[in-house]
Amino acid sequence: MTDQQNTPGAPEAVLTVSGLTVTFPSADGPVRAVRGVDYTLRRGEVLGIVGESGSGKSVTSLAVMGLLPPTAKITGSIEFDGRDLVTLSENQLNTIRGERIAMIFQDPMTSLNPVYTVGYQIAEAVLAHRDVSKAQARERAVELLRTVRIPNPEQRVDSYPHELSGGMRQRVVIAIAMANDPDVIIADEPTTALDVTVQAQVLDALRVAQQETGAAMVLITHDLGVIAGQADRVLVMYAGKPVEIGSVDEIFYEPRMPYTVGLLGSLPRLDRSSSRLTPIPGSPPSVVNMPPGCPFTPRCPLAGEVCGESEPELVEVGPSHEAACHHSSQVAGLAAHEIFDPAAVTDAEPAGAPAGAAPSGEAGR
Ligand code: ADP
Ligand code: MG
Repeated sequence: MTDQQNTPGAPEAVLTVSGLTVTFPSADGPVRAVRGVDYTLRRGEVLGIVGESGSGKSVTSLAVMGLLPPTAKITGSIEFDGRDLVTLSENQLNTIRGERIAMIFQDPMTSLNPVYTVGYQIAEAVLAHRDVSKAQARERAVELLRTVRIPNPEQRVDSYPHELSGGMRQRVVIAIAMANDPDVIIADEPTTALDVTVQAQVLDALRVAQQETGAAMVLITHDLGVIAGQADRVLVMYAGKPVEIGSVDEIFYEPRMPYTVGLLGSLPRLDRSSSRLTPIPGSPPSVVNMPPGCPFTPRCPLAGEVCGESEPELVEVGPSHEAACHHSSQVAGLAAHEIFDPAAVTDAEPAGAPAGAAPSGEAGR
């Protein structure tokens, strides 16, 4: 067991991703989907991975699961339980996938078999891991359905997946993950297809699953709001690379990469007096034939000459906090509208406005 990444007192690392790159061939040139991801996941912790669509979140986790197509060229290492998953055969991966590392996808039907009842599918997972009778496995299935807050679990246990709502199906998938008693749960956009109210229930179920199994979890989402109440640490990805990583408080309250500030500005927040949202203008770059420099440059109002020339590396900006930005010290303390919509700042808060001035006319809306 390598433990050079383990600081004394910190829980042991269960998954260590180092220098991971994934490239797909294409007619237009190599698609550099993942360009160097490093993270350590410690026992029992929740790491949120966030970024806009196409930033390489799913490809990163599919690499961990060994689920990428054979055309994908992978470099780097993914260390789990003393082995490098990148080097394992399909057979060796089969003993890890689903059991030691459980995966929850956006669409629960990716994981459920439509021709078996949900009780049967959960009981199968229980039987694979515990020396119990079929009747006991069924009882455990009912108990797990109750744990993930499925109403009337004694009846629902005999339902087929199609008889359940999307939110309930996703909770069944979580129950199966729990029955497998995994070391790691990777949830990729687990609530993206669901209504907001149902989202909250599924996130609750995920939290319960993570706490009761003691598994470490990677929670992948394009929505920082999903991460707020769930994660211990957050990794922000842009164009195939981490651009900021830190504790959930560091990311939410002291972001140091303009992209992170922009993601926060697109998020409705109750703890801000202003309810105005500031979306990030533009869209993410193509990861084919990327120009040199920071990939966020075309969208970044703070960008200067150096940003177009060299891509910044992650550097330490706090105790457990790293950011990849040439101007990270300038970003400290700035809100999204100050970076992305400075005109609005001058309009709304003219310098030298009298203290206690009445809020400008937003009445009626
Ligand atoms: P995210 O999950 O962050 O939305 P993905 O990890 O799915 O993004 O994709 C990252 C990049 O890799 C995208 O540009 C996507 O088009 C590309 N990509 C993903 N899978 C494949 C594949 N099988 N072949 C070619 N390109 C792919
Ligand atoms: Mg994805």
